[in-house]
Amino acid sequence: MTHRPHPSAPVTARRARRGALAGTITIAMAAALAAPALAAPASPAATATPAAPMRDKPGPVGHSLPRVATMTGSGGAVSSVDPVASQVGIDVLKKGGNAADAAVATAAALGVVQPYANGIGGGGYFVYYDAKRQTVATLDGRETAPAGMTERSFLEADGTAMDFDKAVNSGLSVGVPGTPATWKAALDRWGSRSYSAMLAPAQRIAERGFVVNDAFSNATADNAERFATFPATAKVFLPGGQPVQPGSVLRQPDLAKAYQALRSQGPSAINGGAIGEAIVKTVRTPQTTAGVSVPAGSMTIDDLRGYRVLAKDPVHSTYRGHDVYGMSISGSGGIAVAETLNLLQAYEKRAGTPLATADQAQYLHRFAEATATAFADRNRWVAEGAGTPVSELVSTGFAAERACGFDPAKAQPRPIPFGEPDGDYGPCPQPTAGASGTPNDGASTTHLTVSDKWGNVASYTLTIEQFGGSGMVVPGWGFLLNNELTDFNFKPMTDGVPDPNLPAPGKRPRSSMAPTIVLKDGAPVIAVGAAGGPTIITSVAQILTGYLDRGLTPVKAVAAPRISSRNTAATAEPGLIVSDVGKQLAAWGQPMEPVESLGRATAITFSGGKATAAAETSRGGGGSAMALP
Ligand code: GLU
Repeated sequence: MTHRPHPSAPVTARRARRGALAGTITIAMAAALAAPALAAPASPAATATPAAPMRDKPGPVGHSLPRVATMTGSGGAVSSVDPVASQVGIDVLKKGGNAADAAVATAAALGVVQPYANGIGGGGYFVYYDAKRQTVATLDGRETAPAGMTERSFLEADGTAMDFDKAVNSGLSVGVPGTPATWKAALDRWGSRSYSAMLAPAQRIAERGFVVNDAFSNATADNAERFATFPATAKVFLPGGQPVQPGSVLRQPDLAKAYQALRSQGPSAINGGAIGEAIVKTVRTPQTTAGVSVPAGSMTIDDLRGYRVLAKDPVHSTYRGHDVYGMSISGSGGIAVAETLNLLQAYEKRAGTPLATADQAQYLHRFAEATATAFADRNRWVAEGAGTPVSELVSTGFAAERACGFDPAKAQPRPIPFGEPDGDYGPCPQPTAGASGTPNDGASTTHLTVSDKWGNVASYTLTIEQFGGSGMVVPGWGFLLNNELTDFNFKPMTDGVPDPNLPAPGKRPRSSMAPTIVLKDGAPVIAVGAAGGPTIITSVAQILTGYLDRGLTPVKAVAAPRISSRNTAATAEPGLIVSDVGKQLAAWGQPMEPVESLGRATAITFSGGKATAAAETSRGGGGSAMALP
């Protein structure tokens, strides 16, 4: 899709800019006062003790917490992008809560300290390993299109696709939020603590505030123009008309009020209550500064009341004796990760050398070919309500057929045509089909991974879509509304190729989020997920192969330089591109545009009765891994 400036849309939020931003946001209360993020992925400690619980004293929360990229223990672990949020989860585990409890509390805290990437105005996918049953189950808490949405909602009157930024900064892009209901569903199914108790630390952080660091201030500045067009947003993030300044304390009393309402009424505060009424008003009649108008949405209170978190079977595939579980539709991540891993096994058979012993360039070449192929199929076949042949897409038969075009010394021409996951697989069919183009995807989001001493594991990705979502804070309630509906394709991506991801009433837009849990013989081996729009899929798959095939430690698997080949888009981190490995990849024809930072991941691995939490060493300023002894 071509993004042209829209003359009637004074609100600007350039997509390229967003991509750069996504890797930089962090709420490092600790940054100024404590240990810097690890520069290198060396493990700082085999076993360590997180900080003492945050005390209930006046002043901003958690300003002295260090950022640590890896920690090992047997009493439970939390890995998130932010030390305050990780500490909230660790405190829950310390007091006897389980992984579901701690995941909800951590997520609620992230909604306060990382409000541009997630929050109660958004949605997400919750994947959970229940140690007693030795099973993985998932919750689809994705935002949903209102009943009033149609296939033409993102078209102008003349049938052309709406300018992307115009759609982002609008009521039209706001999906019915699913996050507060997801927390309830997770606690009801697996938790041992109350909804109110798990949201209490987040409310406290919103009330007391946190110390703004450079990255948060810069991110605010980058969004200042569009935030300024919505007075309720400016009130929170542009005090006195200026972006919140580094070193200042950001208190969010309206958000604290929203958390209080959720604690006393449950998710119905949003799915029908006073907050819901305010959401409807904001979406239908966006409050903008004089002279600015943005498209309105059609959401009604019935849309909010009718929202359901969907309990779904995970996508399941096998990889070298492991069971890989991911999120199914509306997600495309679980399917694309599974196909990527299947393709790598199929290439191995064709190439005759194992991935584990291939040299680094050959490993990444195979990896890029696999992800590009998986994206060709994902773009053509995967979306809610499209009759997606999930089990065929993740079958080894389909992968064997799709591996046909692989050449160990030459990249397949892009775009790779999509395959036919029809159950009838030949050794090497001539591709007759075309290719689907790269759809819109944002680059925001957050992922957290939690385990407890009983062996339960939560892998949870949540988002408000792009950085800062729709740009609209709900007046009086202090949180940003998502722009998740721009994850729909506004019109078919390729002429003549059916597009499964067009808008429709009540439909959930296709997501790239890929919270994953891998088991062996029924026990967890690794849980992982990432932020970063469509690069989530490639980040997760690369971390899995780094850990399972290439012998990397968890933190090195997370830190490894990334390549993200997505068929009609192909990016890699600059250090990789200029290295000898990158030069070899280029010589084989691998397309790679430099992008400073791809994805932002967290993971936990399990071995010998211990859990090792791993977070980013430097992307986004580094994440926060904590474990209890
Ligand atoms: N909206 C994206 C998705 O669901 C996530 C946001 C992002 O990371 O860009 O795939």
